[in-house]
Amino acid sequence: MVDRLKPMHLSIVGGDPLVRFRELELLIPLLLGRGIHVQIVTSAFRTMGASWASLERLHIVVSIDGLQPEHDIRRAPATYQRILRNIVGQKVTVHCTITGQMMKRPGYLAEFLEFWAPRPEIKKVWFSLFTPQIGDQLPEMLTPQERTQAIADMLQLRRKYPKLDMPEVVIQQFASPPHSPEDCIFALTTQTLSADLETKITPCQFGGKPDCASCGCMASMGLASIGAHKLGGILAVGTIFKSSHKIGQKRAQSRLRHQVKNPLLILPVDKERCNTEEQRRSP
Ligand code: SF4
Repeated sequence: MVDRLKPMHLSIVGGDPLVRFRELELLIPLLLGRGIHVQIVTSAFRTMGASWASLERLHIVVSIDGLQPEHDIRRAPATYQRILRNIVGQKVTVHCTITGQMMKRPGYLAEFLEFWAPRPEIKKVWFSLFTPQIGDQLPEMLTPQERTQAIADMLQLRRKYPKLDMPEVVIQQFASPPHSPEDCIFALTTQTLSADLETKITPCQFGGKPDCASCGCMASMGLASIGAHKLGGILAVGTIFKSSHKIGQKRAQSRLRHQVKNPLLILPVDKERCNTEEQRRSP
């Protein structure tokens, strides 16, 4: 699959990829040997490979759901205590998805950074915002005011905590997320496959019918901010990209018409079955 799709970056997410630790130990060198950047997104419920910290192009992202009391309830057995023990000797990125509950407590993000940023094992900290599905009514969802406050907090905190590795333009992009998957450069440039390595998860890693207007995916905002950049102050990079993508799509469709069989089964993902909490929170 990797040799056919030739990705530049491959993200392995859960469940928890560390459940298959032995397979990962075999897989990682093969992927890195192909020049691919590999990202493992884990809860750090167990220890990682002793050599992982020194492997170039291998990135470990540890998902942490807020401060210890909230995180430990939600993520046990991957509690704070266990994470702290299991990341010793590693270089990891901490990823936290900001929820409505967190934003109801002023200073929450600062406290989070105060705890994690000074630790030597922490290379970077990333924040995303909770992304609902269309029609969801969940306590994790941010109100428009909370979203604005989260953006303001991140802009301020990145100055105090350089490990908050989120450029200003990316944080500001949370204020104007893509309108739809067709408008989302991230969705157009990535491919998410389920564990059978065949079924495509569409339209993006969240699956189902994600509410793009409330999208909080940091990676999506990163690419959107590049798309918003205007070449020569006139033409947005995103406009060029989307035109080029449409031409590519037409050519691909024309090629497909000449193929006997589509090698990939493309299925829209059912919200209840596939839009897991982990997917909603993935970086
Ligand atoms: S990443 Fe965000 S903006 Fe892009 S398709 Fe998914 S929900 Fe929509």
